[in-house]
Amino acid sequence: MVSRVIPVDPFDLVIFGGTGDLARRKILPGLFRRYCSGQMPTGSRVIGAARSEITVEEYRETVREAIHEFSKAKCDEAALEEFLALLGYVAVDARGESGWGELKEALRDDDDIVRAFYFSVGPSLFGDLAEQLRTHGLTNPEVRIVVEKPFGHDLESARALNAELARHFQETQIYRIDHYLGKETVQNLMAVRFGNMLFEPLWNAQYVDHIQITVAETVGVGGRGSYYDKSGAMRDMVQNHLMQLLCLIAMEPPARFEPDAVRDEKLKVIRALDPVDPESIVRGQYTSDGELNSYREDVENPASKTESFVAMKCYISNWRWANTPFYLRTGKRLSAQASEIAVVFKDAPHSIFGMDAGRHRNMLSIRLQPNEGMTLGVTIKEPGPGGMRLVDVPLDMSFADALGPDAEDAPDAYERLIMDVIRGNQTLFMRGDEVEAAWAWTDPLIEGWERRGDHPKPYDAGSTGPDDAAFLINKDGRRWRGIKT
Ligand code: NAD
Repeated sequence: MVSRVIPVDPFDLVIFGGTGDLARRKILPGLFRRYCSGQMPTGSRVIGAARSEITVEEYRETVREAIHEFSKAKCDEAALEEFLALLGYVAVDARGESGWGELKEALRDDDDIVRAFYFSVGPSLFGDLAEQLRTHGLTNPEVRIVVEKPFGHDLESARALNAELARHFQETQIYRIDHYLGKETVQNLMAVRFGNMLFEPLWNAQYVDHIQITVAETVGVGGRGSYYDKSGAMRDMVQNHLMQLLCLIAMEPPARFEPDAVRDEKLKVIRALDPVDPESIVRGQYTSDGELNSYREDVENPASKTESFVAMKCYISNWRWANTPFYLRTGKRLSAQASEIAVVFKDAPHSIFGMDAGRHRNMLSIRLQPNEGMTLGVTIKEPGPGGMRLVDVPLDMSFADALGPDAEDAPDAYERLIMDVIRGNQTLFMRGDEVEAAWAWTDPLIEGWERRGDHPKPYDAGSTGPDDAAFLINKDGRRWRGIKT
């Protein structure tokens, strides 16, 4: 299979926060991979912009180190030298006057060249940067800005941020990144649903018993303790990543695969979500396993009530999904790094094989990681004599096996999303009203447990979360799918 690279015209890309962790680990190595794939045409420029007063040569050295450390590209040193030669660097202060004139000089004075500004800085600077770009005349007709997460802390702050950005940019120029949407398998969700006749007729409350969405991490909060303790799993994971997955799995078919057609349908899902009652949410906090720190040690807050785990049951009140539970679960320091969406179908209405054959259900599992792929659980006869006994077997497909090297070489989420920005395709970016609707749903849940003073339940590091999370689904006569490595 030949991998197809869609050409783009030369562009100017400025990375604010170009010396930061995200730029070093994801953005610059991703751009290098795109360069190696021939997707950064001659004449494109990437300009790092950050507070450090360093020279271009020093910046190129830090990028060289970052690419050696983090890039997956199978690309030779000569290509790396060529890529580094595209890089510029300007020291700017988002809140001051220094550097802006120099940055303007570094950009080409051409109305037709795409000019993208990636805000890879702390969220408190997003508004300042937007304003500086306008006041210093750095925009052109092809301008676009890329805004990192977190996009607000609650509905009020998200609204304020949207309003601040809207003072300087049109919605069509604002790209809010949720890197989950850039994952190959997440886009495959849409391909599977809307590219096949097989699934869509069954994709509703009549045939689906329930849906599970799991995003499990083995890592703890790491160096992000002070941020995370003010955020928690609900804000850090559910409000954005899990809700985006929920939207893609539950939305109506858009008329076309176009940005607003897709985003309109996602928004309808969020708006149709019922409020969740407190009994349907379990929050957890990891304890020490003797070797690794507990959550409270990690965030250096011995009295922290912030959750590092959430499990919840929610419902979407519309014709398609009435009374179909969606179970969501995410947490840190769990037994495995695994993300999966499982669509569990209802039992056949009548078993011709009698009770002895057991209860069997079809299940479609879409794995985001590890081993990206899909498994369809089907029921067949258990081999051998002794009557008709049924057994569930997987029709298993990993994208790597099915698609070969193309699947392995597929761009990672950041690479893909950056190139979508350059192409001006907003399909995989969150629109302002989507983000606000998501906060409008999560805010009352968070306010509820804060008002009640709820404590998260402790859970062992390396486990599957607190026992109450199992009870949440077991009491409905269902089980979580195992978190597999
Ligand atoms: P970082 O602290 O490592 O880097 C911050 C960058 O901002 C540095 O380059 C710094 O020089 C620059 N900066 C700070 N103040 C500035 C100012 N006044 N003017 C100009 N530049 C200034 O942060 P990071 O981890 O790279 O995160 C950047 C953004 O990406 C944040 O919004 C974060 O929430 C988001 N994000 C990061 C990750 C990650 O894995 N690091 C993942 C998802 C989202």
